[in-house]
Amino acid sequence: MFGWPLGVFTSLDEGLGIHFDVLAKLAIPTIHLHAPSAAHRSAAEAARAADELRRLNVEVTCVFAGFVGESYTDIPTVERTVGLVPMETRRERVSELKEIANYTAQIGVHAVGLHLGFVSHDTQSGEYQELLDVTRDVCDYCGVKELAVHLETGQEPAELLEEFLTDVERPNLYVNFDPANMILYGCGEPIPALKRLGRFVRSVHCKDAKWSKKPGKTWGTEMPLGAGDVNFAEFLATLAEIRYAGPLTIEREIPQEPERQEQEIRHAVNLLNRLMQA
Ligand code: MG
Repeated sequence: MFGWPLGVFTSLDEGLGIHFDVLAKLAIPTIHLHAPSAAHRSAAEAARAADELRRLNVEVTCVFAGFVGESYTDIPTVERTVGLVPMETRRERVSELKEIANYTAQIGVHAVGLHLGFVSHDTQSGEYQELLDVTRDVCDYCGVKELAVHLETGQEPAELLEEFLTDVERPNLYVNFDPANMILYGCGEPIPALKRLGRFVRSVHCKDAKWSKKPGKTWGTEMPLGAGDVNFAEFLATLAEIRYAGPLTIEREIPQEPERQEQEIRHAVNLLNRLMQA
């Protein structure tokens, strides 16, 4: 018998996630919020969003940053375009991430999440060292605002991520553990990875996926919760074992099919509630 609040990944403006009326319908008390675009991040917009969230009685537990130009088309494209790793966009994205951190603090939330990108496997390389410095800079900026930084899992095996987190040496750097990403990117079995990274895990995405026939080369397939290769009973038991204290945030991004999305999120809510009562 476990007890964590449920959550869902969503956004205030266009794009990802479910509509807010669905939250009320499904009695979901928390969300991960996809950061609004630059045009909607002014102090006035932040105040308006904070009011709206209060009115809806929804707690945002993490704001997730995304950047223009990121593409999840296939694994090599992710490697080239996502997060703070690509050199061509690094400077502007770091400053945008700091703006998103300002917005996060303004709406009264204490964590910013992001995909950092593919961390170099060569920990002695200049690339790796530079990424450590960039991450320290972001953590220090966020630290002053009492914000934690949550790195999304999946783009590297747990051992490498653990080494990276340890090498950054910042007390406000944590992990958003997404078990499906481990499978989608072919980066290892999620349960042992969760055990290994346990002390860093401060938020999770409840998402499911099936392994690709060529793990790490081609995408696995995202599935409705319970229909993929993540064993959610074991996932929740492991969260209890690592004394996880955050919400269970359901992530199912099929905004082009809102009816199916609502139905699958409802199914995920029921499944997680059932497993928590087992
Ligand atoms: Mg995720």
